[in-house]
Amino acid sequence: MEATLFEKIINREIPADILYEDELSIVIKDISPQAPTHLLIIPKKVIPKLSDATGEDQNILGHLMLVAGKIAEQLELDETFRLVVNNGAKAGQSVFHLHLHLLSGRSLNWPPG
Ligand code: AMP
Repeated sequence: MEATLFEKIINREIPADILYEDELSIVIKDISPQAPTHLLIIPKKVIPKLSDATGEDQNILGHLMLVAGKIAEQLELDETFRLVVNNGAKAGQSVFHLHLHLLSGRSLNWPPG
């Protein structure tokens, strides 16, 4: 099976602005930012979408959330940010390798579009 876009970034086959990396995850800047800060928190394991995750992935999923909080703290986002997971094409998912969007730096309306 062909590597996902994010696997290619993890494997340094295509460039990206990488802010953080550890054994389970990588954090990059979104190429098409929807807010002044728009990051993608990506597990190294390919899980196509959140609804494909199983109990085996519990540690990875928790890890992604903790990384999000840590990065937000490092970037001094003033404890004001939003995490988004688009699950499935109809929900706006375009890259089928699970990722959290971290958005900050502008007012974030509710309900989201
Ligand atoms: P989603 O639509 O939820 O699957 O999110 C995929 C995100 O990946 C979008 O916000 C895109 O702007 C972003 N994206 C696509 N290609 C790249 C890339 N080469 N580097 C960084 N972000 C990307």
